[in-house]
Amino acid sequence: MQVLLNILIVVGTVVVMEGVAYASHRWIMHGWGWGWHQSHHEEHDGIFEQNDLYAVVFAGVAILLFAVGAAHSPSLFYVAVGVTIYGALYFVVHDGLVHQRWPFRRVPKSGYLKRLVQAHRLHHAIEGKDGAVSFGFLYAPPVDELRAALKRRHGRRLGRDSGSGSVRPDGSRASDPGEPIHGDG
Ligand SMILES: [Zn+2]
Ligand SMILES: [Zn+2]
Repeated sequence: MQVLLNILIVVGTVVVMEGVAYASHRWIMHGWGWGWHQSHHEEHDGIFEQNDLYAVVFAGVAILLFAVGAAHSPSLFYVAVGVTIYGALYFVVHDGLVHQRWPFRRVPKSGYLKRLVQAHRLHHAIEGKDGAVSFGFLYAPPVDELRAALKRRHGRRLGRDSGSGSVRPDGSRASDPGEPIHGDG
């Protein structure tokens, strides 16, 4: 019975982590934490990006959860296992399949994995901090929905100013229907 409960904690944590990742990506990385994340949305030559510091922070949190869990709470320990599994899946999907940061080429040609890759490519379709779609990583909405959302938000603007989302102050976008709400504006 305990084993079942532990498995449930691990699986539940992985699911919850997708929500945490979505929220962090949308409201922190594309909000006040843009300073680190910006490097991920720009061309570069080096292997590492300043954005990788987020992975270091999340790894630190997982290590802390492992340490506190091992000492005080078995449940917390399994939460740490879930966080770590999510991190590994995130690395395979985001850094591997989408951004090809590994030494071999493996691009999914069909199915859900293809949808995941396309959805994240659409996240990168908008330059700059504001107005992006698709902030999740392991759950991707249908690609057609994302394209429609992009078109609704940027159809005109993309044609006019090449989609450089950072040129306009946020205040000028607040009245646009369908614009994302940014935590710190
Ligand atoms: Zn982003
Ligand atoms: Zn990316």
